[in-house]
Amino acid sequence: MARQGNLYVISGPSGAGKGTLVARLLERVPDAWVSVSATTRAPRAGEVDGVQYYFMTDGQFDDLVAQDGFLEWANVHTAKYGTPRASVEEHIAAGEQVILEIDVQGGFQVKEKFPSCHLVFIEPPSMEILLERLRGRGTEPEDVIAARMKVAQVELQQKMKYDYTVVNDDLEEATQKLVAYIEDQATGNYEG
Ligand code: 5GP
Repeated sequence: MARQGNLYVISGPSGAGKGTLVARLLERVPDAWVSVSATTRAPRAGEVDGVQYYFMTDGQFDDLVAQDGFLEWANVHTAKYGTPRASVEEHIAAGEQVILEIDVQGGFQVKEKFPSCHLVFIEPPSMEILLERLRGRGTEPEDVIAARMKVAQVELQQKMKYDYTVVNDDLEEATQKLVAYIEDQATGNYEG
């Protein structure tokens, strides 16, 4: 069967490994395309405008909200994050596997607008391992890490509302599960 355009939302706690998994799936699914979000948070060392995010002022972000330029947007941690609408719609129309790496609040907004989208939750093996991973990054101070652990607990409670969960314990196994799920949706090779 021919491949059709699909929309996937990848969510999960900060530190669960969403970014790594998305990078790996892009290498293995040739028609996958990942959306670049807009954010009002400051760039981290090494982040480039237009690559990891479109970095915006509050004013620029609010203007885009007013113009209905976002498919969804949400306050996450201490900043605003949003998915630019036009490029996502273009890539779905082009028949691609469109990936949004966004938080659960955004995921539910997207599901309302695109009921056929697939919500995928990336779960850490345990809260202890999540904490280790966040500390291991060395990018955030302890108070920020503590706040992210609290948000993680709230996010984990939303997991059952998602269509599919991948536990990111062994990275290669988790990558294979995610890729297989996307391939199944893309080719219509699934029940229901
Ligand atoms: P970070 O600041 O660490 O890059 O991302 C923080 C959180 O923001 C992550 O959980 C990520 O999934 C979420 N996020 C990134 N882009 C978007 C977006 O466009 N919309 C929403 N709702 N969340 C986003």
